[in-house]
Amino acid sequence: MSTLFTGGAVVTMDPTLGDLPRGDVLISGTEIVAVGPDLRDHPEARDATVIDTTGRIVAPGFVDTHRHAWQAQLRRTIPDVGDLGEYLSTTLAGVAPVYTPDDMYVGTRLAALTALDAGITTMLDFSHNSRTAAHSDAAINGLASTGIRGVHASMGPHFGTWDRQWPADLTRLRAQLPPGGLITLRLAALATDIVGPDLVYGPSLAAVARDLDIAVSIDAVFGTASSEAILAWEKQNLLGPDLELIHATGLTPDAWRAIGDTGTTISLAPSSDTQIGLETAIPAIDEALAAGVRPGLSIDVEVALASDMFTQMRVLLAVQRMRAVDRPSSRITTRDVLGFATTDGAHTIGLGAVTGTLTPGRQADLIVVDAEAINTMPLNDAIGTLVLGADPRNITTVLVAGHTLKSNGHLLNIDLPALNHQVTTSRNAIQAATS
Ligand SMILES: [Zn+2]
Repeated sequence: MSTLFTGGAVVTMDPTLGDLPRGDVLISGTEIVAVGPDLRDHPEARDATVIDTTGRIVAPGFVDTHRHAWQAQLRRTIPDVGDLGEYLSTTLAGVAPVYTPDDMYVGTRLAALTALDAGITTMLDFSHNSRTAAHSDAAINGLASTGIRGVHASMGPHFGTWDRQWPADLTRLRAQLPPGGLITLRLAALATDIVGPDLVYGPSLAAVARDLDIAVSIDAVFGTASSEAILAWEKQNLLGPDLELIHATGLTPDAWRAIGDTGTTISLAPSSDTQIGLETAIPAIDEALAAGVRPGLSIDVEVALASDMFTQMRVLLAVQRMRAVDRPSSRITTRDVLGFATTDGAHTIGLGAVTGTLTPGRQADLIVVDAEAINTMPLNDAIGTLVLGADPRNITTVLVAGHTLKSNGHLLNIDLPALNHQVTTSRNAIQAATS
């Protein structure tokens, strides 16, 4: 089965292909086959379903490099969160211990559906409430039920009683989630000893990951303590491209040197860093670029923050334009932030060869954006429209691995009232159990 998208403004984010003011994208099966000004005579286009994208932008789907998806039914419960301590006490110590496997499923599924609706085709779920094997299975099923390209990054919980099945249970999960599938597995851990040593990355967790041939994501990377940890990992030969460090605010110059030298990847969470006030509260984009690292972007926690990538791109751009008043070298462009939200994000979580650009041979993970809506007409600059003008309502079509998951502006196969009932029931049960 082939599909030909014709006549749209094509933003490939592939430097060798560039942008086409008017062009075609041909997909077959799960893959992108060709991108060009006119593909009607392409041999694989003969029997293709043709979708006219005139007046629309065709672009790679966004990549969210870190979100705690299980919390989605509690989104915006702490919109005016004071600081990281309040988040930890209300969410990780407060509600996480009462979560059932079904709550994990409902939250993770809601987060993934919301991501898809907003054009996020790949989401790394930093699933740090794996209290039992059933909690992990439910989170994975929540991702898989939506069709999103998901990364299940598994970590045990911070607080409360749990089965202590993690990290040993990763062996079982790894057998369920082989490399190359739509859902893949990573080990998730913390940089420093916030709540006890078991969740802290170091030689023993690194050995678990290496034995299973899975990569690692580390959250809460900030300040001098994390900087010291990074330098220790450098000595232990634990840094590298298969390690994602999340936040990276307030790190020392030496830690950044180690990150740059080893090709370790970075996920910035611009709205989380600024609104929750993590360490310096300034997204570490200057430091990352100076170290030669092009970071991915991430949503983090919906309990206090927005759900979409447009917000992340705009927050980061605004912060950098503020900094550039005193330091012109801080200025970044709309193309930079779109790259962080797509191709650099894919690289950050080890999927750079799979998704993040519209390149023949890559997976057909793409979005179609209406550029003739009230807030996007007329189309003058496709990247400017994507970064500054558009929002989730303008995303008419979303494909993941060639499968259409959103069409004509609506998620497919979703019963919204039934979903709302499921989400509300779960939310009410969690709140009743903690009141
Ligand atoms: Zn986080």
